[in-house]
Amino acid sequence: MTLLNSVTQRTHIAYFSMEIALRPEIHTYSGGLGVLAGDTARSCADLELRAVFVTLVNKAGYFRQKIAPDGRQLEEPDWWDPAQFCTPLNAMVAVEMEGRPVWIRSWLYVHRFEHGHEIPILLLDTDFEQNGKDDRTLTHFLYAGDEAYRLKQEIVLGIGGLRMLRALGFEIHTYHLNEGHAAFLTLELLNRYRIPQEEREPGTPPYDTTLVHERCVFTTHTPVEAGHDQFSYELFERVMPDFVIASELKRLAGPDKLNMTRLAFNLSGYINGVARRHAETTEHQFPGYHIHAITNGIHVGTWAHESFAKLFDERLPRWLHEPETLVRALQLDENEIWQCHRAAKADLFGLIENSTGVSFDPAVLTVGFARRMTGYKRPLLLFSDLDWLTALAARHPFQIVMAGKAHPQDDEGKRTIERLHQIAHELEGKVQCVFLPGYEMGLAKTLIAGSDIWLNTPLAPMEASGTSGMKAALNGVLNLSILDGWWVEACIDGVNGWAISTGAEASTDGVDAALLYEKLGSTVLPLYYGQTGRWRWMMKHAIGTIAYYFNSQRMMRRYATEAYLPHLMT
Ligand SMILES: *Cc1c(COP(=O)(O)O)cnc(C)c1O
Repeated sequence: MTLLNSVTQRTHIAYFSMEIALRPEIHTYSGGLGVLAGDTARSCADLELRAVFVTLVNKAGYFRQKIAPDGRQLEEPDWWDPAQFCTPLNAMVAVEMEGRPVWIRSWLYVHRFEHGHEIPILLLDTDFEQNGKDDRTLTHFLYAGDEAYRLKQEIVLGIGGLRMLRALGFEIHTYHLNEGHAAFLTLELLNRYRIPQEEREPGTPPYDTTLVHERCVFTTHTPVEAGHDQFSYELFERVMPDFVIASELKRLAGPDKLNMTRLAFNLSGYINGVARRHAETTEHQFPGYHIHAITNGIHVGTWAHESFAKLFDERLPRWLHEPETLVRALQLDENEIWQCHRAAKADLFGLIENSTGVSFDPAVLTVGFARRMTGYKRPLLLFSDLDWLTALAARHPFQIVMAGKAHPQDDEGKRTIERLHQIAHELEGKVQCVFLPGYEMGLAKTLIAGSDIWLNTPLAPMEASGTSGMKAALNGVLNLSILDGWWVEACIDGVNGWAISTGAEASTDGVDAALLYEKLGSTVLPLYYGQTGRWRWMMKHAIGTIAYYFNSQRMMRRYATEAYLPHLMT
């Protein structure tokens, strides 16, 4: 409580996110969006930015993934106990839904930066006796349930979160919406800044949208249509009757469906895509809006393997606070980089052995691939032609390690995981291939840092940014990726990694698979086995030309000066 008392008056930024990856034991995230939110909080602490974070407690997590011997994904609730890491706060607020109050409390998690700055994170919770049975489960499951469950969760997050901040004494000036899930907070703000009857033209709505505009920053994260939440107006009216004037809501959130992205677009004064290519794609998708581009980054202190962290501590001592100094990685000794990489590779191989019983060979090139198992990420692209892969492996051996979850309602994604297991069987004795269950922060760190090549094969331009490749580069791992998302800005082909690209706009599975095979067979593998010196030189360049820029310190400095500061000065 002492922390809150000392920061409420001085904290002017509130960051809202449906998910956040605070640490591996806290299961409040599913993937990239949550990792980004966590890295944002960690960077705010490093930079001593005064921000408070708001999310749901997600007590049952996203899900724990197990894999049956035949490759079927098995899902279990992934419970965690907030009392172990957080302090319960007394403040209680209510939001009326379906004619009854849903009571909300919060847990306080404090992220402490080693030099003293602390960031409060509020985890909203409805699971206590004042609520009925169904309402108590509203903050249990991340991205599960039906449309009504999801709608109520987003009401808890946006409207409940805003009321909670006020109940705790925060005087927030800027609200940062990390994706559209929290966009209902804009409606609460509309109501808060209602224009009194006597001050407005007869017949005009009582809302001052410019005041809301000035306070909201919105980051959109995906060009995939299903990634934008939409609710039926009928459902919304049933849950929140007369919360805002219906005709105004339709004007702001779309005529047919309540589209959370549209709502956020129309009520945010600063809109951001997560890479330059993504901002352009979004401007085409939503004509009439200006989309800024602050490209995502990773928190270097979180994602550097301990051997690299030690090397950077010794040679580039300011790297944690000022990752820009990693530009001087070009001065590092290539043999030292190689030793660090060998340590990371040994960690990964230990984990593979423990988890699957399979022994990987440290001398053999290791391809890593871990992603959400969903259509546009194309996890099967590498396996388009198994005979070709087998023939290639006979010339230059390689081994493959994979991971990733499919959303429980995504049957195609689940079939992909099964297919990957079949393929691993078919390739037995020819190409060593394993799938590690339970992709989460801890596994991601070991898997990415321990690979030699980090492969990414999305269908362009669907990859908004991608951040795992940034984690790879920080650890001297070379990206081999479709030219999309962040990689468009980072790739210097043959220097810090490789692009899979025709250079032309259109790409298809067939074209991309052929390009991938060409690059792997004619460039990557021959270099790994034939020009060890050049390979290590590239590893050094991956660190020096990527990690110095694609980090969340730079990202937050830009948000602070370009998105937050202009708001604070209005
Ligand atoms: C970094 C990370 C992601 C995001 O990776 P992409 O490159 O966007 O696929 C997803 N999940 C976990 C667990 C991560 O650590």
